Amino acid sequence: MQFKDLNLIDPLLRAVAAEGYTTPTPIQLQAIPYVLEGRDLLGCAQTGTGKTAAFALPILQRLVNNPRPRGNIRVLVLSPTRELATQIGDSFSTYGRHTNMKSTVIFGGVGQDAQVRAVRQGVEIVVAAPGRLLDLMGQGLIKLNNVEILVLDEADRMLDMGFIHDVRRIINVLPKQRQTLLFSATMPDDIQDLANSILIEPVKVEVTPQATTVEKIDQSIFFVEKKDKRNLLEHLLQDKAIKKVLVFTRTKHGANKVVEQLEQARIQAEAIHGNKSQTARERALANFRKGTTRVLVATDIAARGIDVEEITHIINYDLPNIPESYVHRIGRTARAGASGIAYSFCDSEERAFLRDIEKVIRMRVPVVTDHPYVSPLGVPSANAAPSRGNNAQPQRSNTSGYGNNGSGSQNAARPAPRPQQAQSQSRPATSETSGEGDAQKKRRRRRRSNNTSRTPQL
Ligand code: AMP
Repeated sequence: MQFKDLNLIDPLLRAVAAEGYTTPTPIQLQAIPYVLEGRDLLGCAQTGTGKTAAFALPILQRLVNNPRPRGNIRVLVLSPTRELATQIGDSFSTYGRHTNMKSTVIFGGVGQDAQVRAVRQGVEIVVAAPGRLLDLMGQGLIKLNNVEILVLDEADRMLDMGFIHDVRRIINVLPKQRQTLLFSATMPDDIQDLANSILIEPVKVEVTPQATTVEKIDQSIFFVEKKDKRNLLEHLLQDKAIKKVLVFTRTKHGANKVVEQLEQARIQAEAIHGNKSQTARERALANFRKGTTRVLVATDIAARGIDVEEITHIINYDLPNIPESYVHRIGRTARAGASGIAYSFCDSEERAFLRDIEKVIRMRVPVVTDHPYVSPLGVPSANAAPSRGNNAQPQRSNTSGYGNNGSGSQNAARPAPRPQQAQSQSRPATSETSGEGDAQKKRRRRRRSNNTSRTPQL
């Protein structure tokens, strides 16, 4: 099935072809026909599946096919983060470049004047983070009474970040007669309730990228002690095959520290997290995109929705305590069908997290036992490699240096752990808050302690 078989109009097909897309992704195949028909939609899909084009293309087509006087906001897309909003805005510009539909992006952390000016000049599509949008609505600077289509993107993340009341307040002022699309990577009860209250006879589409994405990624685990992580990172980065790498830390402080250390080792790196100004984050992302910065160090929330093509490697400098975050993280290197490489460091305090991750991804992550900073505690028995020891020479199995494709140093053939619930709906706990209130912080802390206690001990 090709894009042209989806009954898309020529200006959109040309834009898609210019992007180099040949075949639609599963979410696009499933969603586009229904969105074109005007149906409400509940999409269970995460970033990286091609979901932005799955809604942006048919929305643009509906706008083009039903012309209205200029100057009315006809589409509102709500996004939990500034980064995701920017990316969605870019996608509308890219896919809509041969149409005359205009879009703009609204988010906090920067001055409002340019955003207000863009709205005044007339746009059909507004992509917004809820806080700033409410702010502008309160000032009477933005009118949403002509919205025909509402998209809620990453709804579970909105909930997680404490935006759900803001979202409801915004929805309350929209025309009742509209098309509504809701996308969420997971469907906890709160999201299901929200969906039930705002969608009318929705079509449900679901793509499960978790297993497929994970399978495509060449994953390895390095048992290393905390004090040696820095050296191991520098050691790995000597590999020229690591061209564009996203390094994950658990905290903002940790991200800054890794950048400092890499700079001392003369490795160009930048950090991206919630304490950085919007301009600094955008600059870091732009440098990373164009390759000026080889290493981008990020926390989970800051990296959420980062859509940078050709990330060759992910390095989990810290293992996440929530297994789903691992899947989200490594998914950054396998965008829409590409394969990628993910290395994870695991110190003695993180071994329990690894067990949790392996249960969720339903596979054992192969262990590299021949790196120079192997933990003196050795490899846990459940992960023990059958043959090679720590003194073995590194085997370069592929361009990535350490990989699980054929390296005898690894333990790829170990049996998988017993699967847990396929898609646990626990929410990622993170130190990044991006505008959450005290109540949310308390809830998050409670959740974090619950999550920690459900982690099995090795
Ligand atoms: P998204 O899930 O919307 O964040 O998209 C993930 C990435 O896939 C983005 O870099 C898109 O440009 C890319 N993409 C979207 N649709 C396709 C497609 N049909 N073929 C190839 N790449 C795509």
